[in-house]
Amino acid sequence: MAYINRKIFLEARNCMRKAWLMARDRINGVREELTEHQEFMIDSGGRINELARERFAGGVLVAETDAAAAAEKTRALMCDPAVPAIFDAAFISGAMIARPDIIERDDEVVDGWRLIDVKSAPYYKTSVKRPRSRTGKYFTEAAFNLMVMRDCGVSVAGVSVMFVSRHYRLERGSGGLFTAFECAFEAEKLLKSFEKIRGPIIDALTADETPAAAMTTICKNCGYYENCPVSEIKDPVFLFNSINQKRFVQMIEDGYLSIGDIPDGYFRYPADGLYYMMRESVKTGKPFVSPGFKKALEAVRWPAYYLDFESLATVLPIYRGGLPYEHMLVQYSLHIKESHSCTPDNIRHFEYIAEPGRDCRRELFESLVENIGECGSIIVYSDFEKLCIRRAAERYPHLRERLCAMQERIFDLCEFMRKNYYHPDFKGLFSIKKTLPVLVPGMNYDDLSVSNGGEAIVKHYNLAAGKLSVEEGMRARRELLEYCARDTMAMVRLHERLIEIGCCRKA
Ligand code: SF4
Repeated sequence: MAYINRKIFLEARNCMRKAWLMARDRINGVREELTEHQEFMIDSGGRINELARERFAGGVLVAETDAAAAAEKTRALMCDPAVPAIFDAAFISGAMIARPDIIERDDEVVDGWRLIDVKSAPYYKTSVKRPRSRTGKYFTEAAFNLMVMRDCGVSVAGVSVMFVSRHYRLERGSGGLFTAFECAFEAEKLLKSFEKIRGPIIDALTADETPAAAMTTICKNCGYYENCPVSEIKDPVFLFNSINQKRFVQMIEDGYLSIGDIPDGYFRYPADGLYYMMRESVKTGKPFVSPGFKKALEAVRWPAYYLDFESLATVLPIYRGGLPYEHMLVQYSLHIKESHSCTPDNIRHFEYIAEPGRDCRRELFESLVENIGECGSIIVYSDFEKLCIRRAAERYPHLRERLCAMQERIFDLCEFMRKNYYHPDFKGLFSIKKTLPVLVPGMNYDDLSVSNGGEAIVKHYNLAAGKLSVEEGMRARRELLEYCARDTMAMVRLHERLIEIGCCRKA
């Protein structure tokens, strides 16, 4: 039997159909296909779990994957007073299974066990602040485990969540790596809400019939979308990216499942900005160009510097001075156009890629400052570059003046489009991988070995961690340089196309 685990139970709160399909996949042994970057993130989470376990000397791992065998071993270990902690214990209650990261024997309470959930996700800003959401996502998994353990008659003497501290430094060794929060109050509160829904969830997930589909904001990233009735709806309203939940629910309640169903006057311009643009574009089947498009684009000053950074992002820092979860810059590409009429041969290109094995951020910014002139716009395609330049200005006093001046010259092409242009083929997305082939047909990333940011992060990590041979390392560097250069050349072409669009419009 495949049991309802915490992932499936928690997903059922969002979409019963999706959870039912996940449960069936578990029964049939169907494994989700993961990208290289997703696997990398899962491995990182596994490493965090290992480090957390090291804090519980004498703890024993339940390595069994078979549920019944794992539950049997857990029972035996709990009966052995010499075992102070159990990792990945298994508890089965009816159709549900819980596998808490760590349970620790509580010597103060007869037969008492403390439940500890380990998180590898960041959540807080200061060491004294409690998690922002007191009943939110950080405690749901602990609450599910608590529910099943109680069902099994375990006396749970405490509940806590261990997070990786954002203040941890590599040079401190393993000290201060984790911060733990007692969260019995939050878990109990969530558990009350789980008790109300567990019956209907178990009934629906153990039934033979597939639950009906009901559109939610999670549909856009759902792995079952293609075979779901929701996919038959043309231009579904979940394409309104980052729409607030209340407004989304209201639209569904009003009966608007497709953007095309939304009546005139529902959105106003400019107050509803992107939503208005998207609806107009879907209704007319044509791109929406804002009245202020041309003027806003004329804010770009020549020469134009098209800049893109790549970073190495790991849960734990790999160099001294780095922070957990920090995006450590390792690469940039810079294309320079002196004027709009600059011919392709006259577009200049500069690039930088870090040497593996050490923190090269200072050299990266010194090189950048040398290659970026003192006037003209710096064109980027996200707010990441601006953030990195601001942080570098704080970190490197000798570059501060130049970097602060650079911040003032940044023109974010993505932000410009979100405010001024929408093409129906964007399908609610503004990533450069989506907008480029729509606006510049024939140009994309398909011919590259590295074709997205996730792959670049993994490749940079493999380089930095010395996981590649000399030959593989040289090839990886070449591929990364090609990828980053494509990003900045894509911005050059997008900008050219947007200027053309602006010229076709009356000022
Ligand atoms: S596409 Fe939407 S409705 Fe269909 S299974 Fe996925 S989340 Fe549920």
